[in-house]
Order: sequence, then C-alpha cells, then structure tokens
Amino acid sequence: MDYKWIMAKADDKIMSMAELMEDDTFKKIPEDKIGYYIEEPIKIGKKTAEEVRNKYNNLSIEEICHEMDVKIEREKDEYDFEIVKLKGKYDADKKKITMYPRSIKKMESAYDNLNIKFLNYDFLYEILLTHELFHHIEAGELGSISDKLEKVDVFKFIHIKKQYPIFKTSDIGANAFTKHMLNLSFNPKVLNYLYLLGTGYTEEERIISYFNELNESIYR
Ligand SMILES: [Zn+2]
Repeated sequence: MDYKWIMAKADDKIMSMAELMEDDTFKKIPEDKIGYYIEEPIKIGKKTAEEVRNKYNNLSIEEICHEMDVKIEREKDEYDFEIVKLKGKYDADKKKITMYPRSIKKMESAYDNLNIKFLNYDFLYEILLTHELFHHIEAGELGSISDKLEKVDVFKFIHIKKQYPIFKTSDIGANAFTKHMLNLSFNPKVLNYLYLLGTGYTEEERIISYFNELNESIYR
C-alpha cells in the first residue's frame, strides 16, 4: 500500500474541494465560483499562519493557545463504541478547545497499519489542535471566513431569495493554516482518507478515483 502516493495526490485544491462538497449549500454554488470558495480560504489560512508565526516565533501550538487564552480540555468520557472523531472541537463562548484522546489513539493505530510511523499520537494531537486554534482566531479579530466571503443565493419559491454563507470555507482555511503553521508536506484533510484506508473501510483505488473526480469537478 503506497500512502505516499495518496498524500502527494491530495493537494490543497483537491482536499479543499472535498471539504467544500461536504457543505450543505454546495449544490447552490455557481460552477464558476467554485475556484473562489477554494482559493480565498486557502489564502486567508496561509496568511494567518504567517502572521501568527511572526508574532509567536518558535512557540509550540500549545504555548500559542496559552498566550491567546484558549483553554484546552481532554475529553475523558469518550466511549469505545463512538464514531472516531477526526477532529477536535472549538467552543467560542467558552474559548475552549476539546481534544479527544481515544479518537487520536485510534487514528494513530490506523496509520500504523499503513506503516506511517510519523503520524504518531503527539503529532496528530498537534495537527488537530492547530486546526481548532484557527477557529479560535476566526472567532476573534480575524472574523469567520464564511462571513468574509460572498454569500450564495438560494431561491425559495419563486421570488424569495435568501443568502447563505458557505460554512465549510472555514475548514478549508483551518487546514491551510495548519499546513503552514506546522510546515506539513501534506494537506491535513488527507488524514481522513488515510484513516478509512488504515481501518479497511475503503481501498486505495477508490480513494484515488474519488480524488480524480474531485479534480475534474474543480476544473470542469
Ligand atoms: Zn474545523
């Protein structure tokens, strides 16, 4: 099984497209706007990472969280039968990030099945924490990406037009932020697909053909 090939194929645009397609309002995005909803959040995430790095130099992500007054909590009541959470959770009211140690352990063992040794517990923890830190920054001075970007028109009945934000653009930004904060050679969204592969939920060919489909949908 060659995970390196999957990681290489999963470039920022393809992974951002995967994220975008998970948005409830995806089908309402005009085709010629898809590039906009992918590229703008990537730019914002990357720029924010540069600014945070400049400000905090070599501090670890946990130290940066501390400097920014974000609490980090490790969930103790995670059960074995629960679906593995491939992310943490940010609570803007409490300025708190919740991390899920059991889920991270399960991720680690899935990657171990694929012989990806560098995706160990501590590294995965750091990746997921960085993603949530971005949501904290969005809740503060940056403002949320989905609010910054243009809303999409959704027509209800014939004349009533409503405008909806594309919430998943925040995650696209968070992934770009994480990649640049940690100098990753891959887009963190690929971890979800490697997890499915490492647990035997899917096969390499299916992932590759899904990535090809995503690629074609961007450049249609
Ligand atoms: Zn997120």
